[in-house]
Amino acid sequence: CGIVGVTGTKNSLSILINGLKRLEYRGYDSAGVYVNDNNGHDYLVKRPGRISNLEAALTDDVHGVSGIGHTRWATHGEPSEANAHPQYSSDKRFYLVHNGVIENYAQLKTNYLSGVHFASQTDTEVIVQLVDKFVVDGHLTTKEALLKVLKLISPDSSYAFVLMDKEQPDTLFVAKNKSPLLVGVADGYNMVGSDATSMLKQTNEFLELDDHELVIVKPDSIEIEDFDGNQKHRDTFTVDMDP
Ligand code: GLU
Repeated sequence: CGIVGVTGTKNSLSILINGLKRLEYRGYDSAGVYVNDNNGHDYLVKRPGRISNLEAALTDDVHGVSGIGHTRWATHGEPSEANAHPQYSSDKRFYLVHNGVIENYAQLKTNYLSGVHFASQTDTEVIVQLVDKFVVDGHLTTKEALLKVLKLISPDSSYAFVLMDKEQPDTLFVAKNKSPLLVGVADGYNMVGSDATSMLKQTNEFLELDDHELVIVKPDSIEIEDFDGNQKHRDTFTVDMDP
């Protein structure tokens, strides 16, 4: 299973697909992408099976300047199109890719989301529906809502998350706990990926992320803070490896 994200280039879709292919070695049973053209159009395509199935489903109109991609190793819910990621909120505003397991997802669902219709059996969908609820009903900003959700997730859970909000389509909201995730600094745009290999075609300059940080990635900026809102400064490092 693996994750890729990119913001700030019209080559987003092909970068995501190439990245997912680089992550194939991690194993997966389904794959999907969400891309947004920052001009009112967005596209969600998911398929069970191989990445070639996903590629075959990508029509010429699918394009974007930002997006997220995922290869899934099912833990909650069978491998299917509905359970593949990105998972999304019922109003189709928020899109989330996740590697890992949210151990207290059933409790979160019962406590906060009664009456919400779920389109999948995944633990992941609970997280994206919860962000939406805190934004739409709770009037929090997306960042505040994600932070609130991250604090509600039990510490034994594992996650690498990349969240997108249709209303701020150039922004990737990123967090991790126990699952791997790196930020890649490319030429005029930025990326996220489960490992360096998934981004080496575009860049060899990376930022390490720690557990329990909230990272806001835009085309020209990367902001890292801890769950108490303290800004963190981090230097990039360079990987010397052939793409
Ligand atoms: N627990 C999530 C699911 O079953 C994510 C699995 C993964 O890491 O790919 O959908």
